[in-house]
Amino acid sequence: MKGTVECIRCHAHMESGWVADYTHRGVDRQNWSPGEPQPSFWTGLKVEKEHVIPVTTFRCPNCGYLESYALPQNISDR
Ligand SMILES: [Zn+2]
Repeated sequence: MKGTVECIRCHAHMESGWVADYTHRGVDRQNWSPGEPQPSFWTGLKVEKEHVIPVTTFRCPNCGYLESYALPQNISDR
């Protein structure tokens, strides 16, 4: 997505970023996975890495609204 994303609430230009997931092994980027979460004895939830898509989150600097996208490529690189 080249160009800018506009806030649906106040129409300000949103800034690109990402949401941190804090795990027992450190900080990770939030990821999207298809379907329902499946429990795993070792990791808490099963993750099929080939289907995981990193989440890009836009933030409105005016009202704080967050809008997330899970696209195969980084949305801010388009
Ligand atoms: Zn806004």
